[in-house]
Amino acid sequence: MSTILLENALVLTLGSQDKVIEPGFVLIEDGRIAGLGHGTPSPAPAVEQRIDCAGALVMPGLVNAHTHTPMTLFRGMAEGVSLFTMEGWYETIRLLELVMTTDMVPAAVEVACAEMIMSGTTTFADQYFHMDQIVPVVKRSGLRAALAYGVVELGDAAARHRELVQLEAFLESLGEDATGRLKGWVGAHAFFVDNSPELMDAEYGLARKYDTGLHIHLSTTGEEDRHCRQEFGRTAVQQLEATGMLDRPLLAAHSISIPPQDWPLLARRPFTAVIAASACMRAGAEAAPLLGMRAAGINTALGTDNVCNNNDYDLFTEMRTLAKLTSFRERLPGAIRARELLDMATRGGAVGMGLVKEIGELAPGRRADLIVLDRNGPGWAPVAGNDPFTALVYSVNGSQVRDVMVDGRWLMRERQLLTMDYMSAATRLNADARRLQSLNPDSPDRPSL
Ligand SMILES: [Zn+2]
Repeated sequence: MSTILLENALVLTLGSQDKVIEPGFVLIEDGRIAGLGHGTPSPAPAVEQRIDCAGALVMPGLVNAHTHTPMTLFRGMAEGVSLFTMEGWYETIRLLELVMTTDMVPAAVEVACAEMIMSGTTTFADQYFHMDQIVPVVKRSGLRAALAYGVVELGDAAARHRELVQLEAFLESLGEDATGRLKGWVGAHAFFVDNSPELMDAEYGLARKYDTGLHIHLSTTGEEDRHCRQEFGRTAVQQLEATGMLDRPLLAAHSISIPPQDWPLLARRPFTAVIAASACMRAGAEAAPLLGMRAAGINTALGTDNVCNNNDYDLFTEMRTLAKLTSFRERLPGAIRARELLDMATRGGAVGMGLVKEIGELAPGRRADLIVLDRNGPGWAPVAGNDPFTALVYSVNGSQVRDVMVDGRWLMRERQLLTMDYMSAATRLNADARRLQSLNPDSPDRPSL
């Protein structure tokens, strides 16, 4: 039995217990939290590894509920363009996607996974195609993930059929994931791109068949509501309800302009509004009515989105950005408490991904997915009067994450990555990006959908 003891720490359990324990310990046995509390465990267990966390903070790992890891390849290539509109997406990302090749995906995903680990993320929800290239890298990373195969049909029936075959093959293959950390999801991409009723029916059917969730983009602008009212005579949310999709766990990235009349329905469904504040602000989009949706009882989580509109994976920065955006939107200081933002970045994401019984807080029996931050770095002092929740949201960033553990296994110790090779992956990614830029998007050789 593998036993690890973290001791002399400031422990934040977050979640339903929401305890602050100092000095505290966390005992880990065979990938799960076996105990935690003040001082030292009694009786003293036989441990294989004892980690002194004096001057450090231990908390649950962060959950990034909306990413597109292969798009790390495009970082910096869509500047000054909103990817929240169809035009912006078509004019930049879609052109790059038509010339990118599958061998460019692994380095982008490895850089993404490494950056998530280095900034304290232990679980993420990804949505993209090229899953055959993504899965091996994520498996190697040791991260926990809900991987949604993103379906893009663009009104083409042949493409729809081909994509659905790929989607089902992917769901079938991940059903056998021996690590237990990866789960296949359905990536119903976005209403304003893929909105045929036939496709939505098929996506819902596959989500039911494989007992999984749907990861979508929703309500980036009012465009979808206008489209759905015109096509189906109802709002986008009501259209989702009509397809049955709201019965399944549903991660809805952005959720910026959902009509308030639809909020009570969403609060009764396994629906999560995933807020990506940095991407939203960079795109010049409106700020989601976070306080209103939370007050209505809708589950909320955080996501970074792709790193073309962000441009990083640091969820500490994301918490801070959303905190300030919410106060700015409401014209109210402290409009959302630091504890609530930490809850969104941990338990909120876990709820959305159907993992709340396993992760999202530190408690006996939960998976040992946790992070350790050095409290001697910038932003912590003075400790008196600077409560740890405020520091984590407003003055600390992911570079102060010292250690990262998933399932009781260290993915980073003392800032050294143990599963990913960042320098090698970044070197390959640089070469891939140069190669991508040398390809002419208008070339007749480019693949068609
Ligand atoms: Zn997105």
